[in-house]
Formats: sequence, structure tokens, C-alpha cells
Amino acid sequence: MKRIVLLTLLHVIAVTSSAFGQQDSLMLDKIYHESFYNGEAYDNLRYLTKEIGNRIAGSPNADKAVIWSKGLMQKMDFDQVYLQDVQLPYWDRGPQEKAYIIDSKEPLTVLALGGSVATPPQGLEAEVIEVELLSDLKKHGDQVRGKIVFINKPWDESIVETGVAYGLNSSQRSRGPSESAKLGAVAFLFRSLSSSRADDFPHTGGTGYIKGIDSIPAMAISAVSAIKLSKALKANPTAKVYLEQHSSWKGVRHTHNVIAEWKGTQSPEKIITIGGHIDSWDVGEGAHDNGTGTMGTLDAIRTLMALGYKPKHTIRLVFYMNEENGVHGASAYGQVAKDKNEQIVAAIESDAGGFAPRGFDIKASADRVAWIQEHWKPLFEQKFWVSRFLQGSPGVDSGVWGRHFPNTIMFNFRPDPHRYFDLHHTAKDVFEAVDKRELQSGVAAIAALLYLVDQQIDQL
Ligand SMILES: [Zn+2]
Repeated sequence: MKRIVLLTLLHVIAVTSSAFGQQDSLMLDKIYHESFYNGEAYDNLRYLTKEIGNRIAGSPNADKAVIWSKGLMQKMDFDQVYLQDVQLPYWDRGPQEKAYIIDSKEPLTVLALGGSVATPPQGLEAEVIEVELLSDLKKHGDQVRGKIVFINKPWDESIVETGVAYGLNSSQRSRGPSESAKLGAVAFLFRSLSSSRADDFPHTGGTGYIKGIDSIPAMAISAVSAIKLSKALKANPTAKVYLEQHSSWKGVRHTHNVIAEWKGTQSPEKIITIGGHIDSWDVGEGAHDNGTGTMGTLDAIRTLMALGYKPKHTIRLVFYMNEENGVHGASAYGQVAKDKNEQIVAAIESDAGGFAPRGFDIKASADRVAWIQEHWKPLFEQKFWVSRFLQGSPGVDSGVWGRHFPNTIMFNFRPDPHRYFDLHHTAKDVFEAVDKRELQSGVAAIAALLYLVDQQIDQL
């Protein structure tokens, strides 16, 4: 008898869960259909990139993007749209950088690294010391004094996950200026982090200085120019290089995160945060980084709204300011949420480009990730080609505010990584580099995840 009851019970559970699975599967079909046929992310992205353009935090363009995206949210069925105060130091590149090899007058393509100080107004000239790794510098001891340190470390082409190749080397960019200045260097030149399909576009990115050590100008050099310079130095190790840049910090600016809330119908006090950063670097148009992330998460919500969905939990869309050079927006968001003692049950972030979706990295316990792999992954895998559901790191912004919310389960959208770092932080990151179908496919994947999180987070 007991056995029969148990079997009946198991049967009921199996039928219920497959019915749920079927219902979810139908909903995912509708989401993909809505996104492919009626998606607005691509057109919104066109406006953001072409009418507003790049938008470093604190700049007039960044403020334009804030006002415009607030207006976009106000046109939708959110219950509340508001700006959240963010204060940050504003860094400005100034007039275009110049660099060349003195003897040959051979130009080198460079970009100041974000946060860098300027050269003297008339530029500087110095010999160059080339190494692959900062740790090699010490071997050169006194020879570093008075020279430009040139880190020429090619990208590891064998790593499929390009973010890992980037991460392997990016700490040299941030630590480099101070490590070089400690040994008396006068400037720092860093080979751009990108695949060795070498082109002449330098990639900017943040750097910093250690207090008490001289701040020296720091620049990124394109892969092609790095190869050119390295060749010239082999031919003449005492060849001098001219560098000129005018970047500086311009004091504190008052700006905003943009936030919209769609109130939950069952547990409105429980919040699901979704979004990405609205700022970009000051070159290109900030299309993949991170126009696609903001316009994509907005459109994921529009997709669910268009389908008449009513969320159980409150869905809060956040466009963070200043991910690129300070993360002050995410810090402000975290502080306010902490002070209000909010219950943020889950977070979804999109900040890895708008290429075809591959899945999500998940910051959660192994048990929870296994549950997601069992219950959600099959819904995406066969039909939609989205199969990566692995334990991993959250996005940068979620990671920063998440310090106050260690138990929040966090999802980091992962599109195809192959081409992202060809464009990342360069003049090539423009609207034309985004494919509409790939972008809307990502929107659908994010909307589908948001739906599943809202429906089933309490079972996790
Ligand atoms: Zn980004």
C-alpha cells in the first residue's frame, strides 16, 4: 500500500513537473517569437550609439544617455522610474594623443589609458625598455630610470574564452604605471589586449597609481604599432620615442543610475535586479560595451510586458553609471539597497557584448547550479542553442553591490566570446559591429531566464 502511495505520489510529481516544463517551454517559444519579430533593442541601440555616441561617466553624453533612457522606461508599463544620485571623479582625455619613433618619424597608434595623467604639454622623448612581463623589469634595475617602459605581451590566442586571455594580462595594465615609476620610468606603454588578428586600433582601459609613487603618463599601443616598435628596438636598442597626451582628472561630477521598477504581484518586497552599465569608454560608440547590455535588458522586460506577463517578484531594471572607470554607480546602488535593508533575491547582468547568446555564469552554490542545469538548461539547449549554465563570477557591477548581498543568486549573461575583445574599448566598438538577430536572440535568452527566475526562484 505504502509502495502504491509512493508510486502515485512520484507519478503526480513527475506529471506536475513535466506540465510545468511544458508550460515553460511554451512561454520560451513565445518569448523568442516576440523578440525576433518585435524586438526593439537594435533600434534603441542605434539611437544610443548614433544620436548620443560614446559616454564616459561624468561627460555631457553620459548625462544625455541617462535622460534619454529614463524617457524610454517612462514610455513602458513600469510602476516607477527614477534617477539615483551618483558622484564620481571625471576623467577627460583631452586632445588626441601623439606618438612616433624619433629617428624614423614612424607614427605609433596610441590611446591614453583611463585615469592616466598627461605628459608635459610639449610631450616627452625617451629611450624605451621592452619587456613582456612587469616582473621582468626588476632584472633591468637602474636601466629603467628615465625610460619609457613598454609591455609587449601578445595575447594568448589558444584560449577560447577570450575574457580569460584578457584577465591574464589586464592586471599588468593597472599595476604597470606605478611598478614602472618605482624604478624611475618616465612613461608606460602597454600593448593592447586583443586577439593577434593584429590591427592598428589601440584599446583603452582603466589604470591607476599607488599613493606615494610618482604618477607617470600611461598609454595603450595598438598591436600593429607594438610589433613595429619592437622591430625598431631590435634594430636600434637606443631608439627614442616621442609621446604626447593631455588627459587629466577634472574634479567631481554629479550624475545618475537610471532605475525602473515593475512591481511584483505576489511578493513585491522580493526584488530581482536586472541591467548593465550605461556609460562607456570615450572612443567608438560603446555599442557592444555596453549599449547591447542596457538596450538588451530593457528589451527583455519589454518582451515579457508585451506577452502580458505579470511578475511575482518586483523586477528592477538598473542602468549603472561608471562601470568602466570607477564603478561608483554600482557602489551607490549597493549602499542604498543595504541602507533600506532590501531583499534582492536574484540579479541578472549583461556586460559581455551583444553577440549570439551562449548562456549564463551563475554565482550560487554548486547545488543551486546543479538544479538549474537539471531544470532550466534543457529548455534552452536544444531549441535555442543556449547551453552554458556554469558556476562562475557575477558581472562587475553586480559583484560590487553584491558585497552587501552575499546570498543573492547572480546571473552573468555570456554571449559568444570570440570577437568581443577585437572591439572592446576601441574606436571599432560601433553600432555596425552589432548583428540584429544575434542581439535579439540574446534578448530572448535573457527574457527567458528572467521569466524562469521570477517563476521558480523560491524553489532554488
Ligand atoms: Zn562593459
